[in-house]
Amino acid sequence: SLTAGIVGLPNVGKSTLFNAITKAGALAANYPFATIDPNVGVVEVPDARLDKLTELVIPKKTVPTGFEFTDIAGIVKGASKGEGLGNKFLSHIREVDAICQVVRCFEDENITHVSGSVNPIDDIEVINLELILADMESVEKRLQRVSKMAKQKDKEALVEEPILIKIKEALENEKPARSVEVSEDELKVIKGLHLLTIKPMLYVANVSEDEVADAENNKYVQQVKEYAQAEGARVITICAKIEEEISELDNDEKAMFLQELGIEESGLDQLIRASYDLLGLATYFTAGVQEVRAWTFRKGMKAPQCAGIIHTDFERGFIRAETVSYDDLVEAGSMQAAKEAGKVRLEGKEYVVQDGDIMLFRFNV
Ligand code: GDP
Repeated sequence: SLTAGIVGLPNVGKSTLFNAITKAGALAANYPFATIDPNVGVVEVPDARLDKLTELVIPKKTVPTGFEFTDIAGIVKGASKGEGLGNKFLSHIREVDAICQVVRCFEDENITHVSGSVNPIDDIEVINLELILADMESVEKRLQRVSKMAKQKDKEALVEEPILIKIKEALENEKPARSVEVSEDELKVIKGLHLLTIKPMLYVANVSEDEVADAENNKYVQQVKEYAQAEGARVITICAKIEEEISELDNDEKAMFLQELGIEESGLDQLIRASYDLLGLATYFTAGVQEVRAWTFRKGMKAPQCAGIIHTDFERGFIRAETVSYDDLVEAGSMQAAKEAGKVRLEGKEYVVQDGDIMLFRFNV
């Protein structure tokens, strides 16, 4: 499954946020997610549609879909040269699909800042530069080989070389590889390089408890937003400390607590939603009397692939899917009523599943 890695300099609030994630995950009512890796936390993807479907279908159980975060500690200046946990750190980032970079936007005299004072842009640049340097090394190494092969008119090398050169130029200008426009096909060619700066990035501005309700006016948050905007990245604002405190509350208590603080949506829920978006993920549902369940898929996936998320046999033996959109089902009031209203469609192998679809897969075993 897809995972987002949490990175950031020391003392910015990563562990605090990750604690909130693991606690919230462990408390999940129906816990279909198990992980043995202590650096991986799985959270429920909050989805009000699942509650509504449960009301309509009244199943024996309801199972939300999960999302994985990996805690990647240990980045310091010089990581790309192997300092600190350098290489190990970078290899962990290679394994994640998106990066959530926690940025310290809170002042607290008692908590040392690694470079002496709070300066989110400096912090971001320290991390981003390490990632760029690591990528530069990979690209240069690869380019040496590929250029030799291109001189001998190797077909694949002739395709790969210009892409590598384009990316190298961006990196030399301290721009991430994701800033380079590449086609799907070009992306496939360089996939094996596992570039770090090609992964989508989300900035997580961590503000103090007194400022979280009014974070727009925090000057550090504004700086992070400007920086992110220039590179087309998103920012969310959270208070990691509050997230840790509320991660042990049940939903009603949590809602009350957030209301008192003047926060609309918990930081963790924002983080989950933003990471989901960043990875181009969406949710479809299965809704039977035994179980109503949410499943994560990648936008653009067709019905057989989506069936394969439940079980590989479903994909192999796929015949067709009966499907109805969430809105149509809710409007009709029941599956039977939706059928009578002609809202339940029969879809084949080429159907591109849409966010919110309720799917019933027919397959041969
Ligand atoms: P890490 O090194 O990035 O994992 O940082 P930690 O999560 O260990 O946090 C470092 C220190 O900052 C701890 O003492 C936290 O309690 C504190 N801290 C983290 N988030 C916040 C926050 O939102 N507000 C305040 N005031 N302190 C925080």
